[in-house]
Amino acid sequence: MYERNPYEMALEQLNKCAKIMNLDPNAHEILKYPKRVLCVYIPVRMDNGTIKVFKGFRSQHNDALGPFKGGVRYHPNVTMEEVMALSMWMTWKCSVVGLPYGGGKGGVICNPKEMSIGEIERLSRGYFYAISRIIGPEIDIPAGDVNTSSREMAWFMDEYSKWKGYNVPGAVTGKPVNIGGSEGRTESTGLGVAIVGREAAKKLNIDLKNAKVVVQGFGNVGYYSAYFMEKLGCKIVGISDSRGGIYNRYGLSVDAVLEFKKKTGSVVNYPGAEVVSNEELLERECDILIPAALENQITEKNANRIKAKLILEGANGPTTPEADDILHKKGVMVVPDILANAGGVSVSYFEWVQNLQGYYWSKEEVFDKLDKLLVKAFNRVYETYCNYNVDMRMAAYICAISRVVDAMKTRGWI
Ligand code: GLU
Repeated sequence: MYERNPYEMALEQLNKCAKIMNLDPNAHEILKYPKRVLCVYIPVRMDNGTIKVFKGFRSQHNDALGPFKGGVRYHPNVTMEEVMALSMWMTWKCSVVGLPYGGGKGGVICNPKEMSIGEIERLSRGYFYAISRIIGPEIDIPAGDVNTSSREMAWFMDEYSKWKGYNVPGAVTGKPVNIGGSEGRTESTGLGVAIVGREAAKKLNIDLKNAKVVVQGFGNVGYYSAYFMEKLGCKIVGISDSRGGIYNRYGLSVDAVLEFKKKTGSVVNYPGAEVVSNEELLERECDILIPAALENQITEKNANRIKAKLILEGANGPTTPEADDILHKKGVMVVPDILANAGGVSVSYFEWVQNLQGYYWSKEEVFDKLDKLLVKAFNRVYETYCNYNVDMRMAAYICAISRVVDAMKTRGWI
């Protein structure tokens, strides 16, 4: 299957927005590239006694607004260009919600599903040590992403703290709560998807009490998006994971599907649901579609067959620019990744603030602050969407890029 190179996609989105907003060519030139990309080779002792070297990256796109911020993914298909694209998207994401951060991203080429916990721990510590020189609470703050969770963040934080010689909780976010993680960080990306979904539904007159939702991906983001959409009254009719999908037009119980996945390793064959492929699931009957897996899922090949009226991008980069045009013409609203999944980095920001001040908030406080932050960002983007008569992605880009460019101007970079 031909897949768009994510960095080319990110550049195309930037160029498209530059035209619409008449972006200063000097700012445009700077924003096309990451400020720095570090490539590291990490020797790891495997359980059978041999050493295997893994390749990893950390891309730091822009820090005009504050330190770089963004997750680290473990996946066999990671490439340097993908990590560069993801770091650019993080710059826009942090900016659109008004965080004092720039964009960064990391990735390691590996398949954690075929590694033991011990091997994953040694790889995690090796990777973090290798990038430690360009990391820190005031420099660049990694977090979780695809196939990394609070477990890996604990190892990252521990490795960094050992290297420094004292505890540095603010160097990593998404940590377990007992070592400085924030209440609510685990749920936050999915909760954020549901919050912007709720706001978008109001604008589109979608009644959430009767809305049918399909969720592609059942990792942290997919599960919590489904969970919170169900709490808002929606019927979750389709769910998938990397092995395939299930569909039942009368609705699935999100927690029962999770239990089933925990037992069998996949959602596929969940009793009482039809088995469908991941591709098919995207085209099934629903009101709201939440791609919460990987890039390149909605393309010019399937965009026309999508039935949803509203797409909430739980994943980063699931929709290609060609598909964006098709969907916009069809009247489908796409709430872009940089806004729809910004709940995660927002609570990461809250975690970092709590670490720096050493004073911790309750889950209610965190969720309340998140709701306010995302509603404000959504409304700002929606207003721009109405004023410029563009799609929601371009509206979010206009808001995000303007804030970064203003900071670059104030600092005298351009
Ligand atoms: N990996 C997440 C994202 O793509 C979270 C990043 C963070 O919390 O820094 O937004």
